[in-house]
Amino acid sequence: MKIISINAGSSSLKFQLFDMDSEKVLASGLFERIGIEGSLYTIKYNSEKIREEIELANHTDAVNILLEKLIALDIIASLDEIDGVGHRIVQGGDKYNKSVIITDEVISDIEAFKDLAPLHNPAGLLGIQAVREVLPDVPMVAVFDTAFHQTMKKERYLYPIPYAWYRDYKIRKYGFHGTSHRFIASKAKEILGRENIKVISCHLGSGGSICAIENGASIDTTMGFTPLAGIMMGTRSGDIDPSIIPYIMEKEGKNASEIIDDLNKVSGLLGVSETSSDFRDISKGISEGNSQCLLAQEIFIRRVVAYIAEYYVLLNGADMIVFTAGIGENSLDVRGKIVERLSCLGIKLDESANDSRGEIKKISTDDSSVLVYAIPTDEELMIARDTLELVQNG
Ligand code: ADP
Repeated sequence: MKIISINAGSSSLKFQLFDMDSEKVLASGLFERIGIEGSLYTIKYNSEKIREEIELANHTDAVNILLEKLIALDIIASLDEIDGVGHRIVQGGDKYNKSVIITDEVISDIEAFKDLAPLHNPAGLLGIQAVREVLPDVPMVAVFDTAFHQTMKKERYLYPIPYAWYRDYKIRKYGFHGTSHRFIASKAKEILGRENIKVISCHLGSGGSICAIENGASIDTTMGFTPLAGIMMGTRSGDIDPSIIPYIMEKEGKNASEIIDDLNKVSGLLGVSETSSDFRDISKGISEGNSQCLLAQEIFIRRVVAYIAEYYVLLNGADMIVFTAGIGENSLDVRGKIVERLSCLGIKLDESANDSRGEIKKISTDDSSVLVYAIPTDEELMIARDTLELVQNG
């Protein structure tokens, strides 16, 4: 069985083609600058990589070229080999608590939820519509970032604001990165060999969120009504006092959406360091004595530690803390410093083990009170697994 998983952005389309018998990636790639001058694609397969600048007027062009290339490069013999296509969809509202086969109703729900995810859901729909045009008979599945967090209880997902805002406008915490946290939960279960476990999953990428997981279900997570909430991120502020917004609107003569844009795009590591949103640059800055970079790293670490501590208490202890995504998997120094700050809980870093990237690795000492692991996440594989399951069993 072959499944394609697709992550569509407003001008991009990322894909991975899986052989699901072995769960091996047969090809992966990225179509960029769709609808913009200078569009191009890259496809990786076996150990080859091709890159071509080519006109891509819309997402349908991207899907057409993708399928043409898969055949031309002998990765598949014909389109009949594609058994299903899974799409990453950011917002499924409070209606979807798991992945679903895409029907007209699902499409209109994704459309309706765009109010809640104005940047992301329309992009997801572009991907769905493009695949529908090109492969009308192939079943498609929607995998929602929010679905995993639908197990949160009301006292965790409600904000302390007028209840009518929830009742009338569905203002609540939804949480995101659910596919990644679910993958981490399943890996933790595999590693520990039992069902009944408490995990704190730290997805630290350019966007980041932490999730408290018990018996495979999300109990709480740091992102909120939108992905702007929670820990400090590459360019997002994470939690701030909302009164800052009208204050700075007045000072800078900007409107609310311009300020939200600033909080999404020029805050976080970039905002504080005034150097970069990328931890590699922040680390380089620190080694060169840049105090703004050091400050940015310090605030980042402090906020991650605060949420791990909150979730440790919420879960009444934890079996495993996991670091994943770009920073969690690769920034050894930062994850090491985070673990060291948890020493009052009896959590101990194994410094010599904390030296590896790209593999599952225990990085706590044998006498640590909680196991700490680095685990590479794989959202695309999770999307492909859900797609296979629904295509086979409905
Ligand atoms: P996303 O998928 O959210 O775009 P990633 O999970 O790919 O993000 O994480 C990207 C971030 O990971 C980069 O911005 C960078 O800060 C960090 N990162 C990646 N590689 C390294 C590395 N070798 N050392 C430190 N940080 C890294």
